[in-house]
Amino acid sequence: MSLTTLSEWLRCPICFRPLHDAPPLVLGCDEGHRFDSNKHGYVSLLASQPRIAGDTPQMLDARAELLDSGAYDAVAHVVAENAALARPERVIDAGCGTGHYSATLLPLLSPTARVLAADIAQEAVRRSVRKLGRDKADGLVADTWRPLPVRDGVADAIINVFAPRNPGEFRRLLTDDGHLIVATPQQDHLIELRRALPMLDVPPDKSQRLAQDLAPHFRLERSSTVRYRLAISHETAIALRAMGPSAHHAHGDAATSALPHAVTVAVDVLRFSCL
Ligand SMILES: [Zn+2]
Repeated sequence: MSLTTLSEWLRCPICFRPLHDAPPLVLGCDEGHRFDSNKHGYVSLLASQPRIAGDTPQMLDARAELLDSGAYDAVAHVVAENAALARPERVIDAGCGTGHYSATLLPLLSPTARVLAADIAQEAVRRSVRKLGRDKADGLVADTWRPLPVRDGVADAIINVFAPRNPGEFRRLLTDDGHLIVATPQQDHLIELRRALPMLDVPPDKSQRLAQDLAPHFRLERSSTVRYRLAISHETAIALRAMGPSAHHAHGDAATSALPHAVTVAVDVLRFSCL
């Protein structure tokens, strides 16, 4: 089995030279560094134990169930429409989670388009490649906060949905006419749930601060807000908490008795071009 399509995205995390397919299931560079891959179409190139915890399988289960219910479809469609505008052939899903947002995007692209599903959680990458299909997707386990083991100018779009960002690295990965599409919560996103459960607050003006962080490398091209009321069951409320970063901070199931029956979904979708 070939790992060619996977290796074409990647560079060595040690010496930064291109990685090549070294059959049967190894990726290697010309300096002799070797990395074990697997038959599932992804590779882990984590340099060290990450300081940020990735999604656990339980968080991914909760997220998959919620996303499959269609609760965030409106968000996924706006992300996909923005990402598909310039008909990208190579898309990196940076912080791919369950692969839901790439799966919404792929049908809008040409039949030859490919996705690199990247996440710090191996289980997220494995699930994403399986969901998107080996013929459409490759997977990379890596830490967004570090220099990424991805070649220069290898993507013409990056999507980044509720996930960490590395502006300088994202710019390096994109072609000069590439685009970055970011989805980020507004301050009142899931506010009803935040009041009922111990969850992390969304800092105020998150989108403005995001644009400032990206300003050295990117220009904001368009911005839209997806906002609606979402009726939720008790189970969905628990799942919404379990799928987000607050799950790492949850202590038992205190205060789950008075959960809201509807929540505000409020997400900014921002499309940036490269400077
Ligand atoms: Zn190397």
